[in-house]
This record gives sequence, C-alpha cells and structure tokens, in this order.
Amino acid sequence: MRIDIISVVPELLESPLGHSIVGRAIKKGIAEIHVHNLRKYGKGPRQQVDDYSYGGDAGMILMVEPVYMMIEELKAERQYDEIIYMSPDGEIFNQGTANELSLKENIIILCGHYKGIDHRIREHIVTREISVGDYVLSGGEIPAAMVADAIIRLLPGAISDETSALSDSFQDGLLSAPVYTRPAEFNGWKVPDVLLSGNPKLIRAWQDEQALERTRRLRPGLLED
Ligand code: SAH
Repeated sequence: MRIDIISVVPELLESPLGHSIVGRAIKKGIAEIHVHNLRKYGKGPRQQVDDYSYGGDAGMILMVEPVYMMIEELKAERQYDEIIYMSPDGEIFNQGTANELSLKENIIILCGHYKGIDHRIREHIVTREISVGDYVLSGGEIPAAMVADAIIRLLPGAISDETSALSDSFQDGLLSAPVYTRPAEFNGWKVPDVLLSGNPKLIRAWQDEQALERTRRLRPGLLED
C-alpha cells in the first residue's frame, strides 16, 4: 500500500513514521509513505502557500492552487482510492475506518495548517474528511501520522505475530483484556493465576470475560453499537 502525505511542515512527520512497527514496515516494503512539501508549488521567491482569508477573519488559509497542483502531480502518476483531508469537522476516526483504509492501494492524506485550507479543495477534490477527535490541533500532520500508523500496523507482515493486531481493543468491538509479563510477582502484586495455568481454554475464557467486563464498565457505548 502507498500513502502520500501533503504537508507544509513535512519535518513533523519524520519521526512518528520512521521508527518502531511503522518504520520497520516501510523498510520491509510492506508500505510506502511519501511526504510531499506543499511549498514545491508555493508562489514567488518565498514559496508562499498561504494567504489571508476573504471576509477578514484572523488566521491564514492554505491556498487552492498549490494544493491543486500537488494533487494533480500525484494523480498523473497513479489512481488514488481516497483523497483524505484531516479536519476537526470530519468523520471521527476509529478502528473500523482503519480496517477499511488498510484494504486500499493508494491514498493521499492532505494536512491543513494555520486556519485550514481553501474550501474549494474540500468541495471539488477531497473524497473523505477525517477527524481524530473533538479538539483542534495546529496542523494535520499529527492526525495524519495517527491515521497512517493505525492503517500500516494492520497490513499483513507489519506485526510479526499477526494475531496480535486482531486481539487489540476495538477489533472485535470490545476493549482488550489486561496483559502481563514476567515476573509473576513484583512487590507483592501478582499476575492472575489463570494466566499461569497453561490451559489455553481457561485463559481464553478469562480474557473474553475480562474484555466484556472492561467494555461494560469503561465504554458501555461500544456494546450498544
Ligand atoms: N479552523 C479550523 C481548524 C484549523 S486547525 C476549524 O475550526 O475547523 C489546522 C489544521 O489542523 C486543520 O486544517 C486540520 O488539517 C488539522 N487538524 C486540527 N485538528 C484536527 C483534528 N481534530 N483532526 C484532524 N485534523 C485536525
């Protein structure tokens, strides 16, 4: 799968996508991420990409032309399944959306900055708008990194034990059961006996029960959905 991310601050994306599971998936060739600096199509000697808003509101807006040119350049090379704009007023991102996007071949993620982007891009080019929650960040880069991470860790081979992604929270509509590792006792705090029993059936039953109990207690809304 290939993800193209368009940004005015590409440096913000380097570290989150360069290490751990996502970094390794890219090195292994399971996913490709290409980050494009919007300033490539900026205007004038300062490569300007933003301007004042019509109507006189405070805050700068990313201009329509550089975004259009950048996306046209990418579309001339290949077909995109989705052109996603990260936006606080988009659909709230969740595991279902991550699963769905992980099946796509090529996607573009467009990061806004400052006060946002010229609305004509959203009206005419963007196919989907995604929010990472009801709060406002300075730019779409951290949200884009979150979306890319959630997608890439689902791709076959990204996680060595493939069942591991499947047992994560939300994957089956439930929160995950608690997890423990060695030592079995620390400071008098014990790992639940059942996990030391070596009986896979009992362990599975305990995990299912814990997942259900935690979901009921912490996120009852998930059970209604
Ligand atoms: N004026 C805009 C917010 C601009 S914040 C508004 O009120 O809706 C600048 C950029 O950060 C946005 O263009 C968007 O790309 C990104 N951003 C901020 N918060 C976000 C969120 N919760 N989810 C996704 N992207 C977000």
